[in-house]
Amino acid sequence: MTGAVPAPGSVTLIGAGPGAADLLTVRALRVLSHADVVYYDRLAPTDDLAAWAPHAHLVDVGKQPGHHRVPQAEINRLIVASALAGLRVARLKGGDPFVFGRGSEEVAACEEAGVPVTVVPGITSAVAVPAAAGIPVTARGLSKAFTVISGHDPLSELELSGLARLGGTAVVLMGMATLGHTAIGLMRHGVDPRMPVGIVERGCTERQRVCIAPLAEILTASAVQGMRSPAVLVIGEVVRLAPGAEERLRELAGVAGTA
Ligand code: SAH
Repeated sequence: MTGAVPAPGSVTLIGAGPGAADLLTVRALRVLSHADVVYYDRLAPTDDLAAWAPHAHLVDVGKQPGHHRVPQAEINRLIVASALAGLRVARLKGGDPFVFGRGSEEVAACEEAGVPVTVVPGITSAVAVPAAAGIPVTARGLSKAFTVISGHDPLSELELSGLARLGGTAVVLMGMATLGHTAIGLMRHGVDPRMPVGIVERGCTERQRVCIAPLAEILTASAVQGMRSPAVLVIGEVVRLAPGAEERLRELAGVAGTA
């Protein structure tokens, strides 16, 4: 599906981008404008959803953490049942549907039920959120690779040593709860304690906040600033390119005696 309007009885997984309403794609808007029902997530921009999908019933399936959240199996069941009932189903997800979004499970559920399913890619927070803070994930001479990894579960020794040896930029999503483990683990595997780290909270939104510190100091700096999820963690020399980063790193290096 490129120019086509989604057919009744189908599901479209839509990447809604990292949080700003105007980072939705034209294709996403077109699919929403024809939707009969929208199942949307916590991280998708939703303030304008009623205008984008004027004919649709809007269903929140990703309540704030700590509150009731619809289990994945139930989401799969809901999108399939709505499509089998003849509706044009839009499934609106934060960022890109296939970057830690469980999009592939939703595609599989549709395919198993014989429901036509298409995917509209979205701008992933893994790249856009660092950029919103002035951090390019690659930069000639500084980094020729970026690795995007989930910090939802603590990184294994193999993952830590792989990241440490590969160099380049590490981008960790869902990494706030495991920040200490990641930082200490990378240093244990040989990453310089002075390596710059950036944490970007609620990137691409009006509430964006940034915390920058050397690897050895990031856990403390993050706690002092009260940094919280959703946040993207960027580890690498490219962090120096963020506005004000060099001054901040010099300040903290002085404090830590790592200069
Ligand atoms: N599919 C999404 C990622 C889902 S995992 C994507 O492609 O962006 C959820 C994680 O994404 C969060 O824990 C956080 O690490 C990151 N994230 C998503 N939106 C964000 C934002 N606006 N600011 C900071 N982090 C964000």
